[in-house]
Amino acid sequence: MPIRGWIEVDELYCKGCDLCVNACPQEVISLDLEHLTPKGYHPAYLSAEGCTGCAICAIVCPEAALTVYREIPAKRVKAAA
Ligand code: SF4
Ligand code: SF4
Repeated sequence: MPIRGWIEVDELYCKGCDLCVNACPQEVISLDLEHLTPKGYHPAYLSAEGCTGCAICAIVCPEAALTVYREIPAKRVKAAA
């Protein structure tokens, strides 16, 4: 089962700098060109499936505007021998 992740962007801090877009190895972040933040920037958003929760985007974000979540697969246990 592939690891599934997702991100949340705090629009109060995102300044649409594009760093996370370029850093994402899965290429699943885009800038929302149809939406402006309260400060007038186009914010980043998760634009496709395939996020692995690697957190590279959060590491490169200079505004700490990104929170990354990762789904932890259920642990497999032996049900019967
Ligand atoms: S790196 Fe941070 S500030 Fe820059 S676009 Fe991405 S979320 Fe916004
Ligand atoms: S957590 Fe990793 S895969 Fe997911 S959006 Fe951020 S950089 Fe891309």
